[in-house]
Formats: sequence, structure tokens, C-alpha cells
Amino acid sequence: MTDRPTRTATTGTLEPAPEAGPSRVEVGFICPQGHHFDLVFSCQAELPTTWDCARCGRVATRADGTPPPPPPVDTALTHWDRLLQRRSLEELEQLLSQRLAELRQEL
Ligand SMILES: [Zn+2]
Repeated sequence: MTDRPTRTATTGTLEPAPEAGPSRVEVGFICPQGHHFDLVFSCQAELPTTWDCARCGRVATRADGTPPPPPPVDTALTHWDRLLQRRSLEELEQLLSQRLAELRQEL
């Protein structure tokens, strides 16, 4: 048997599937359209919390209520964000004034 999940009879529980053997676990999923399906995974595999519904293509979530992971948060900081971490606006205004004064003297 491979480690790929296979479709089995619907139970909606996390019990080992009878035909899958003791090293397998059956996981139920339900999509927003109400399509319920079960997939069999290895007990050693990290069980997914979502799966694409084969009937409608929408993202199905676990029937046992295990929530899907939160969406990734964009934690990328801009140059401006990083600058504000190091200096206050008052410091930046002072630096800008000093630099502009230096540049004007050069002209
Ligand atoms: Zn569906």
C-alpha cells in the first residue's frame, strides 16, 4: 500500500479505517457545499486540516472541527518601517534638516 490517501466509506471520525490497517487513520472532510468525504492517511503523517473537494474544488475543512491554520501574516517590513524602528520622526526631521543644510552649503 502507498502513503497516498485513498477514498473510503464515510465515517467522519479519526479512527483507523478497517481496510487500511492499524497504521492508517481515516480523516473526514466537509466542503462549504456540504460534500463530505473521507481520506486515509498514515498514522505517522501530519494530518492536513484542509483538502480540496474533488466534487466542487472548494477547500474542505476537517469534519471533526479541527480548525485550518490561520492565513499567513505578511510580516515583511518596508524600509520605512525599519527606519522607524531605529529613529523617531523628530530625529529623522532633524537629520533631514542637517543634511539639507549641508547640501545647500555645497551649492
Ligand atoms: Zn465540494
